[in-house]
Amino acid sequence: MSEPLDAPADETPAADAAVPARWADAGFATRAIHVGSDPDPRTGAVVPAISVATTFAQDGVGGLRAGYEYARSANPTRDALQACLAALEGGTAAFAFASGLAAEDTLFRSVLVPGDHVVIPDDAYGGTYRLVARVLERWGVAHTPADVSDPAAVAAAVTPRTKVVWCETPTNPLLGVADVAALAEVAHAAGALLVVDSTFATPYLQQPLALGADVVVHSTTKYCGGHSDVVGGALVVGDATAPSGEPLAELLAFHQNALGAVAGPLDAWLVLRGLKTLEVRMERHCSSAERVAAHLEAHPAVREVLYPGLASHPGHAVAARQMRRFGGMVSVRLADEAAALALCERLEVFTLAESLGGVESLVEHPHRMTHASAAGSPLEVPADLVRLSVGLEDVDDLLADLDRALAPAAG
Ligand SMILES: *Cc1c(COP(=O)(O)O)cnc(C)c1O
Repeated sequence: MSEPLDAPADETPAADAAVPARWADAGFATRAIHVGSDPDPRTGAVVPAISVATTFAQDGVGGLRAGYEYARSANPTRDALQACLAALEGGTAAFAFASGLAAEDTLFRSVLVPGDHVVIPDDAYGGTYRLVARVLERWGVAHTPADVSDPAAVAAAVTPRTKVVWCETPTNPLLGVADVAALAEVAHAAGALLVVDSTFATPYLQQPLALGADVVVHSTTKYCGGHSDVVGGALVVGDATAPSGEPLAELLAFHQNALGAVAGPLDAWLVLRGLKTLEVRMERHCSSAERVAAHLEAHPAVREVLYPGLASHPGHAVAARQMRRFGGMVSVRLADEAAALALCERLEVFTLAESLGGVESLVEHPHRMTHASAAGSPLEVPADLVRLSVGLEDVDDLLADLDRALAPAAG
């Protein structure tokens, strides 16, 4: 009963997630390791506690000790993660959710009303497409798929009711690259928000807010968590206002609590731990993916390699401008679906499984697996495509595994 339905955002420590002055000039890895992880003032513990309490004692009615009242509204472990994520993206506030899709749903419902329209990538993550086309559609929100690597195509898809331009970069699974600064101009000229799903890039490889985006989305299930042991999502914002004129950070703080799809304390802690090694992991993911992409580009059984780090990639120049390196995801097109399925099944060091971004290398067939929900839609993925998440094993073992698995096809 005492839980306020519309507590002012400044009552929750989560809303004040800007970089602490002490780390304002610190580099990426230093922030990742320290923001949100100050030693415990009482015990000196260098790792934040996993705070499982659902409720917090009050010193008299309304006398909250550190702003904490009820754990859906704010939880110390989640606050630690949110502070770290905001610092890594160069945002003013971050919000952690139970999954990437919970983050997306909360964002859409924070900024859209029936009658609004969104532009989505024509190769969006299948779950994003399903949320927009099969759920939001029923609530009166229309959408248009567009090639987000072409700002003119996005501009042509915008309508007077467009409130959100959504992009992924690089895209899942075709590794398309969107020019974030160019799309920000298109979205803002239309009075819409530019949202960037930066799951593949992580805050280490690209920082969309600095390029003009209004909201950054992460499935922290992937590289941020990094160990295939936690499902989570996040939204990060700067100072932008919603199309309604309200500050986005306040709107999201309200809806995170009102909708309630928050990250649990153990999940928040696992993602925070993952972030501490994000830089070293991403450096190795990128180095190995570069080797894998170059190796496969020269392989006779491979028709095409999709990797933004290759000079042959149509988005290479944009990626080189807006990303630090090119990421750990590599997609390949083979002769046909049978060859794609055979590669998936013959690999041994790469595990056949959905998801990505963990320490272990994974392979999957998007058409039948992650992107099956897009079958028959404009977003259908080619059946000859195989997606690789290049992990942190010895790269020579990965190359040997690929050669072995491709040998019959090349023969
Ligand atoms: C996995 C993924 C999502 C959805 O995240 P979940 O944590 O699975 O809900 C969204 N966008 C991209 C690019 C993804 O890879």
